[in-house]
Amino acid sequence: MTVQGKTAVITGSNSGIGLGVARELAKAGANVVLNSFTDRDEDHALADEIGKEFGVTARYIKADMSKGDECRSLIEKAGTCDILVNNAGIQHVAGIDEFPTAKWDAIIAINLSSAFHTTAAALPTMRAAGWGRVINIASAHGLTASPYKSAYVAAKHGVVGLTKVTALETAEEPITCNAVCPGYVLTPLVEAQIPDTMEKYGMDRETVIREVLLDRQPSKQFATVEELGGTCVFLASSAANQITGTTISVDGGWTAL
Ligand code: NAD
Repeated sequence: MTVQGKTAVITGSNSGIGLGVARELAKAGANVVLNSFTDRDEDHALADEIGKEFGVTARYIKADMSKGDECRSLIEKAGTCDILVNNAGIQHVAGIDEFPTAKWDAIIAINLSSAFHTTAAALPTMRAAGWGRVINIASAHGLTASPYKSAYVAAKHGVVGLTKVTALETAEEPITCNAVCPGYVLTPLVEAQIPDTMEKYGMDRETVIREVLLDRQPSKQFATVEELGGTCVFLASSAANQITGTTISVDGGWTAL
């Protein structure tokens, strides 16, 4: 079975990895629901472009993934959710003793709790349809840690734990749940970390990329959003029927170190 004709809901998908995943799933024939917390003409235009380019149904639904009720209503409004990709995420970098409580709360809500709420809302529809895929975009930081990223690392380790529990609770059904763990991907989330790091270490952009960002990525290359999307298409295919409750690293060898 392929993803052809299935409906995929991808949270946080008007940019970066989420948009790349939506495009690859649409290219493989899935209907897609894009999401973010904004409701701009350009958000809807992104969905229209994907629909036209790949000949699938593509919609944009506004929902704030920091709010549990909006996470659940996203799934309700989507109507069908065969493939759920929990991707929305934010970052904040600071030492634990200086970490703003509001940032901690927002990261835990958007990067972790949203996946609980969307999964809880989507499982009944997957069970009714007799098939489903939950794909959680975790991170290399779901498996290892870095200093100054307490909330992010805690949330991503939590996502890996939630992935295992979801897989066990659906193990005897035609539903799987896995986590994809990217290393660094050059998206707006990572772009935003470059200027501060340049200033902090007195480095130029290229040096920050090679010696700081890609320091732990042995390939010395960013993973791409297309590669992440391709991994999701694979996890949604029948070749992955027996892959559940695990993590797939797309990190250029980071977690082999
Ligand atoms: P990005 O900033 O380009 O995209 C994040 C997406 O989440 C955007 O579409 C944004 O609008 C959305 N979002 C943010 N807050 C939201 C909210 N409250 N409600 C709904 N949507 C919201 O970042 P990205 O790099 O594409 O990150 C996507 C996911 O991949 C995140 O979970 C991130 O942790 C993970 N990830 C990224 C990298 C990387 O190197 N870029 C590495 C590992 C994991």
